[in-house]
Amino acid sequence: MQLEAVIGLETHIELSTKSKMFCSCSTDFGAKPNHHTCPVCLALPGALPVMNKQTVEYGIKLALALGCSIHSVSRFDRKQYFYPDLPKGYQISQYEYPAFTGGTVMLSGDRKINLTRIHIEEDAGKNIHGAGADNHSYVDLNRAGVPLLEMVTEPEIRTPEEASEFLRRIRQIVRYLRISDGNMEQGSLRCDANISLRPKSSGKLGKKVEIKNINSFKHVEKALKFEIKRQRDLILGGGTITQETRLFNAHESVTYAMRSKEDSFEYRYFPEPDLPLLNIAEEWIRKVSETIPELPDEKRRRFAEQYGITDYDAGVLTDLSELADYYEACCKKGRNSAQIAHLISTELLAITKKTGMEFSAVKPEYVARISDLIDENLISIKIAKQLFPLLFETRDDPDNIIKTKGLIQISDSSEIEKIIESILEGNKGNVEKFKAGKTKILGFFVGQVMKETKGKANPKLVNRILIEKLSAVSDEFDG
Ligand code: ADP
Ligand code: MG
Ligand code: ZN
Repeated sequence: MQLEAVIGLETHIELSTKSKMFCSCSTDFGAKPNHHTCPVCLALPGALPVMNKQTVEYGIKLALALGCSIHSVSRFDRKQYFYPDLPKGYQISQYEYPAFTGGTVMLSGDRKINLTRIHIEEDAGKNIHGAGADNHSYVDLNRAGVPLLEMVTEPEIRTPEEASEFLRRIRQIVRYLRISDGNMEQGSLRCDANISLRPKSSGKLGKKVEIKNINSFKHVEKALKFEIKRQRDLILGGGTITQETRLFNAHESVTYAMRSKEDSFEYRYFPEPDLPLLNIAEEWIRKVSETIPELPDEKRRRFAEQYGITDYDAGVLTDLSELADYYEACCKKGRNSAQIAHLISTELLAITKKTGMEFSAVKPEYVARISDLIDENLISIKIAKQLFPLLFETRDDPDNIIKTKGLIQISDSSEIEKIIESILEGNKGNVEKFKAGKTKILGFFVGQVMKETKGKANPKLVNRILIEKLSAVSDEFDG
């Protein structure tokens, strides 16, 4: 029996509003436990919620970016459950009437994932369990009441790789929109992955398992891969899947059962009496729509067209909007936009990746200058490669670095001639081979010259002089 996986994701996006959803406490991450709390988010008796307008605005932004329907009237509901990090005993969420429905997220290869809904809700606090000899548990309510958007997909994702690509796209889009930092390690972006298997091309959905609270791209893939294998083995072995909630253990790369899945009626949802209905007027939507920046897909297409760069480079350069802006700033200062793209995506990003330094440490005009120097034949690609780490180290401009480090290109043909003559002299065997028709050996000689000059010889001159000299010796030989 051929089985296929069916995956649906529930993604939580913590919004980067300055204050919480219903009070003026700060949402900053990393404060001392319980320092960002007040009677509202501590749920003291009599405290009432006041809606943070920015939360809704951020929701509208995301809905516009993903083509969701934006409902003029939606409602907040109470979702009741008991947990120490939820002081009210319920979470204010949206259930029957979410603010946004529909919409799509595009993945590579024109794969389109439809969204069911996006609703607005508050986050809970955090339970912290003491380690080692400390067998106490603690509650930190700094996160209680931080605004979230929950995005639910249709069960249309087919592979673990698609699931992690989906999350990467979401992170990219929320960062472009500046509505969340999308930081998975800090829990600003986390997801519950629902997965079932079914016979291929069967229209019916199988029984699903929900894996809770996954907070890294890698973990999503690993958890889903494990779950596909577990469910396949179970089904093929004649067993049945239990509908349940599971947790992913990152150390062992396995999922294990946490509890049987609660049904929604168990939450005893009912309309939140302390908040009015949420009204989103056309005029508000229009105003917010004017703030939507150029989004990644659009930008990628424009970059490929406007700057004549490969799709791959365009994808790399538009990954972050800050990097895209940086590239465009470089292009304004330099001539060869394709070469600049290449220098950034290979040299510059290799260093930032390795060292964790910011690309913005290097001024855009410096990158542009290096590209121009290559074009003017004043430095070789090899020297350019040496220059990039030095840009980060010295923060100096390329011309100064070239001067102080003596990296200027040797374009004096008599000097290069001398070097070539001594190399030919010292490699008679290879000269013989060249004469015998092994012209590929030319590359060897070029390499020797570059080695001798530490990459500083003008490559065009080296080639020209080498060919001259080698054909001269061949002529001698022939004559
Ligand atoms: P629940 O009420 O259990 O939370 P929902 O219908 O709200 O279930 O769906 C939650 C998520 O699970 C959605 O992303 C949805 O696409 C996905 N989903 C629903 N049914 C299945 C299934 N049989 N297999 C895989 N995913 C599913
Ligand atoms: Mg659900
Ligand atoms: Zn508060």
